[in-house]
Amino acid sequence: MQIHANHKEILDGKTTDIYFHRTEEILKKEKKNPDVTAEVWAKKLPHNYKWAIFTGLSELIELFKDKKIDIKALPEGSVFFEEEPVLTIKGKYLDFARFETPLLGYICQASGISTKAARCKIAAGRRTVLSFGARRMHPSITPVVDRYAYIGGVDGVSAVLSAERLQLKPQGTIPHAVILIIGDTLKAALAYDNAIAEGIPRVMLVDTFGDEKVEAVRLAEKLRDKLNAVRIDTPSSRRGDLSLIVRETREELDNRGFGDIGIFVSGGLDENNLKNLNPWVEGYGIGTSLSNAPTINFSLDIVEIEGKLLAKKGKVSGEKEILECSRCASRKIVFSRDTKPRCECGNEMIALTKKVMEKGKITGETENVDEIRNRVLSHLRYLNV
Ligand SMILES: [Zn+2]
Repeated sequence: MQIHANHKEILDGKTTDIYFHRTEEILKKEKKNPDVTAEVWAKKLPHNYKWAIFTGLSELIELFKDKKIDIKALPEGSVFFEEEPVLTIKGKYLDFARFETPLLGYICQASGISTKAARCKIAAGRRTVLSFGARRMHPSITPVVDRYAYIGGVDGVSAVLSAERLQLKPQGTIPHAVILIIGDTLKAALAYDNAIAEGIPRVMLVDTFGDEKVEAVRLAEKLRDKLNAVRIDTPSSRRGDLSLIVRETREELDNRGFGDIGIFVSGGLDENNLKNLNPWVEGYGIGTSLSNAPTINFSLDIVEIEGKLLAKKGKVSGEKEILECSRCASRKIVFSRDTKPRCECGNEMIALTKKVMEKGKITGETENVDEIRNRVLSHLRYLNV
């Protein structure tokens, strides 16, 4: 049974809201199909975020291939702020009306996930962050969610197909099930070491039966150099203050000369609780908060019809663009028809949105996933959460 929409159904406009099909019927009957300019923007970002990351563009653009549509957009992986027009679409209205729903769907979810991943990566600092969210999402979109988490800055993914698409090695340890079936953490660790190919890091769970620090020391004393890290995934009902458990485990390992054995933490993590754990941790596995990241509520609004200024209440008419100062990086939203102002610092301001599609043909170079991700990483150096 296949419930999820396939690529063709999406490109045919079948995942759209019915009211766009009705729009087509009405406008065709009225013989109206004007040239329209529409802008995509987010009036508010979720949870008072100060910034967000724009992703989903390379999927979105496929909707308009070979249609007489022009698109200008921020490069994928750019940072953006509330009220900025991240994308402008121009063409005959009926050439894009029915694609508004999937257009928004692509970038709302992708940007939400990439933004969350970026926030977690900033909070984690130099530590590794892995996407463990596969089990919290519909499997048909697992590679989608992991792609946008990776672009947003996570270092790796656990799901096999996601890793294959991203040309990465999937990352993970072992589930509690192995330890339960073998019956003891140390025996399970030895079995892991015996069965799994060399070169794959030995990272063992230490929260299945006993105390985390006792188990960690027991494994370290037996496996020594072979043990790369221990993972703590303690259930919330047994946690108390997780940072104290992690700290104690770290200190007990260090006291015995096992400073090289890292601690990896997973379970219920997001950008808000990483900071309390950072001093003692080498890496994190983050699931639900990535797969269920708050969506960015982009909307698409008409700003000009047949070159005339026109917009609904709450939206300013006229095509706009985002300018950024070439020296101090301050930003401004200006009307495209106006001459570009200079920055208050006296320097030139440069338009950030670029033409990405002309009459249905993709313009410029197509970027691969790592090029887009590198753009995100270049922003993370100066952003904070
Ligand atoms: Zn400036």
